[in-house]
Amino acid sequence: MTDFAKTKSLFHLPAGQVYLDGNSLGPLPKAAVARVGKMMQDEWGDLLITAWNRAQWMNQPSRVGDRIGRLIGASAGTVVMGDTLSIKVYQALASALEINAARKTIVSDTGNFPTDLYMAEGLIKSLDKGHELKLCEPDAVEDCLAEDVAVLMLTEVDYKTGRLHDMKALTAKAHEKGILTIWDLAHSAGALPVKLDAAGADFAIGCSYKYLNSGPGGPAFIYVAPGLADQVRPALCGWLGHEAPFDFDLDYRPGRGIERMRVGTPPVLQLTALEASLDIWDLVDMEDVRAHSIKLSNLFIELVEANCPDLELASPRDAMHRGSQVSFRFGNGYAAMQALIERGVIGDFRAPDIMRFGFTPLYIDAEDVRKAAAIIEDVMLNRLWDSTDYFTRSAVT
Ligand SMILES: *Cc1c(COP(=O)(O)O)cnc(C)c1O
Repeated sequence: MTDFAKTKSLFHLPAGQVYLDGNSLGPLPKAAVARVGKMMQDEWGDLLITAWNRAQWMNQPSRVGDRIGRLIGASAGTVVMGDTLSIKVYQALASALEINAARKTIVSDTGNFPTDLYMAEGLIKSLDKGHELKLCEPDAVEDCLAEDVAVLMLTEVDYKTGRLHDMKALTAKAHEKGILTIWDLAHSAGALPVKLDAAGADFAIGCSYKYLNSGPGGPAFIYVAPGLADQVRPALCGWLGHEAPFDFDLDYRPGRGIERMRVGTPPVLQLTALEASLDIWDLVDMEDVRAHSIKLSNLFIELVEANCPDLELASPRDAMHRGSQVSFRFGNGYAAMQALIERGVIGDFRAPDIMRFGFTPLYIDAEDVRKAAAIIEDVMLNRLWDSTDYFTRSAVT
């Protein structure tokens, strides 16, 4: 059994706050401060350029990728780190479209995160081969899987509502029709057990700064199914994805397997912070995380619904169809969230009316949930949100 009191003690959690936003930016692992400091001093400081070899910086993206692989059911050598998630969306989609070149339709859903859709639109324009992005309603995705579809590209857990797609079933349906799949795990990796190899997913991508706690701007990961990676022709042919970067050939030759999805110089400081977080993840069983997350989110729904009639549940009630976040709709949700943040309950707001709360068992327990629910009740019943200060929108909501 995972010792969640122990994992909680390993994070820096500011006093007087209940942090329900680890689905957007994970908190600081205490050990990351010294770990990154030491790396800067001993490696960057003292070893300088020789650290690429002597401190193994060059293979850090695959080393760290393998550690994340354990959390998402991906075998060794199928995951690599680098760039941001938006870039990884582009890479995965470009490669999948090239493999399925005879087909021109990309299917996604209206619950997908905008950047995934924007990257698809941009790629379609630059390819200029008549591709089309078709958006289906999240519960009608299966009906959109026709024989002309090249790629099914979905985010497994909806960033607004927390609705969870059935990755295994949809991947099987897609494959029956010759469709390749791309799964965005932004709200899945570190949130619930994912079994990429077992589900037969073709491509997957995700970020490390949400549930995986790598810090702001931490790099994304990309997975390509075993056996498929060697068929993939990378769209972003960076030198570090080359078969032999230090031959400095004038022509590009893709590297072996997943290595070819690397682009340029890796973010060593961020990857080092992520390694400190992964030391905590090594103590964790994803099945325990799931069981605990369901307990916490069910308790939260029960308490909020019992005491706050103005908040309408926007997430699936059945935990089996939900990721690790709970969202409520409220017309004045932005102001209400500002009032909560001022009182130490940190969630976030997604336009037009979603108040979003993330449940992260590594450092949130039932006591935190009770505390947060009591503050939400106070803010809602006493209309503490109804103050002009809370209506001015900041750049980040
Ligand atoms: C958070 C998130 C992103 C963010 O992309 P970045 O390039 O890392 O800014 C993309 N897609 C989804 C589904 C997300 O939840």
